[in-house]
Amino acid sequence: MSHPTDADCIFCKIVAGQIPCFKLLEDERTIAFMDINPVNPGHALAVAKGHWPTVDVIPTEVLGAVAATAQRVAKAVITALEPGGVNLLQANGPGAGQSVPHLHIHVMPRRPGDAVALNWDYVPGDRAEIEAVYRRLKAVL
Ligand code: AMP
Ligand code: ZN
Repeated sequence: MSHPTDADCIFCKIVAGQIPCFKLLEDERTIAFMDINPVNPGHALAVAKGHWPTVDVIPTEVLGAVAATAQRVAKAVITALEPGGVNLLQANGPGAGQSVPHLHIHVMPRRPGDAVALNWDYVPGDRAEIEAVYRRLKAVL
């Protein structure tokens, strides 16, 4: 299956076999491999084979395939590593901390007391502000 590529993209190079990875699995639309900067042992990535940077531009069916691959990897992580939990994380744009602009879902095993900065305290929001933003979103859905 043909898909868009970017010659300067590190994940496109991995998909093309031009640079190595610890490949977990591969199917028509996706590939999964180990993250080389793991937040915890077992940190892996489910990656679209095509070069689409973010969730707003990737075709819906490809995003679904990436999610299915993330699920397969998460099941393997849970079975083999028995972590305290698993986070799936997907960043869009530098403002969200995305460093590789080629869509991927992180599969992050979690350990009690680890220092992964993903969780936050619940602070009740202002209901009028929530409703005002809700109306803006509803208007474009
Ligand atoms: P993000 O910041 O959400 O775009 O995540 C990009 C992830 O890709 C980071 O966790 C990096 O550690 C990881 N990464 C970058 N280059 C490679 C590579 N060559 N092989 C495996 N993982 C990589
Ligand atoms: Zn790419």
